Amino acid sequence: PYDVLVVGGGPAGASAAIYAARKGIRTGIVAERFGGQIMDTLGIENFISVKYTEGPKLAASLEEHVKHYDVDVINVQRAKRLEKKDFIEVELENGAVLKGKTVILSTGARWRNIGVPGEAEFKNKGVAYCPHCDGPLFEGKDVAVIGGGNSGIEAAIDLAGIVKHVTVLEFAPELKADSVLQDRLYSLPNVTVIKNAQTKEITGTDKVNGISYVDRETGEEHHIELQGVFVQIGLVPNTDWLEGTLERTRFGEIIVDKHGATSIPGVFAAGDCTDSAYKQIIISMGSGATAALGAFDYLIRN
Ligand code: FAD
Repeated sequence: PYDVLVVGGGPAGASAAIYAARKGIRTGIVAERFGGQIMDTLGIENFISVKYTEGPKLAASLEEHVKHYDVDVINVQRAKRLEKKDFIEVELENGAVLKGKTVILSTGARWRNIGVPGEAEFKNKGVAYCPHCDGPLFEGKDVAVIGGGNSGIEAAIDLAGIVKHVTVLEFAPELKADSVLQDRLYSLPNVTVIKNAQTKEITGTDKVNGISYVDRETGEEHHIELQGVFVQIGLVPNTDWLEGTLERTRFGEIIVDKHGATSIPGVFAAGDCTDSAYKQIIISMGSGATAALGAFDYLIRN
């Protein structure tokens, strides 16, 4: 078995693997997609000590740093089951079973779906989640961004530089994004913000041709013609596969203590899949280090 088996290869998992390997213990890391969410991120300006970098570049350095140590990297494999027997077993979708004396879960999070008619139907046919990946596809077109939090407003600002016009639909009476982002947004000429807007349907034929929403103040339904919809309403932790095994919050986040320990002895967790207060690269890396040190502490005591 591995001394430390890390599940998830984003910033949290990479950090955990490096901290574990540096203790000279047998370390493995299994990931569905090495790099995680930063693979979908363009500009990163808040990774302290690096003024500016780009996600894929940071992901490549993470992988290089991990591979600098004696770590088994198992990429493009998804874990589907965790069970504590003599060791902690992690079964992969390909049927293989990996064993660890300790396991660190760092499976991150993914974009939340809005769940209205048309969303699933027109995914990749006008419905998108990653402005950095799909923004250029909508050059010169009209798009909507659903969600007025930080990610929604960042997306709207980003898209406004590429597309013809951006309509932001926010369910609440106010945008929730940081005021610096809102100021930036309102300084742009090709953005409209509609608050109190409940998205009803994403319309289209073979691809998206519009969006319907209800004005929550008047109850009136409106339809806007456009070619793209970016859904930016938050993140869901990738922890469905752990249902019934360890304690999670009602949002599905794995509950950890200050050592990164979960409710199963020997199983630790780090990053966006946990109930940590903020979901950021530097925070997930810090918690990856915490979980690895927590796992090491557990190993020397058991
Ligand atoms: P993730 O990055 O989500 O990585 C999860 C890993 O687990 C991946 O390797 C994934 O493939 C793997 N995985 C998931 N499920 C399984 C499974 N069942 N089996 C095996 N592997 C699995 N943060 C900042 O600090 N600054 C920014 O500017 C910034 N911009 C962002 C822009 C975008 C578009 C997005 C999406 C996020 C941004 N973030 C930013 C947030 C930041 O990317 C995340 O906080 C960070 O990536 C979390 O790291 P993580 O390792 O916890 O999870």
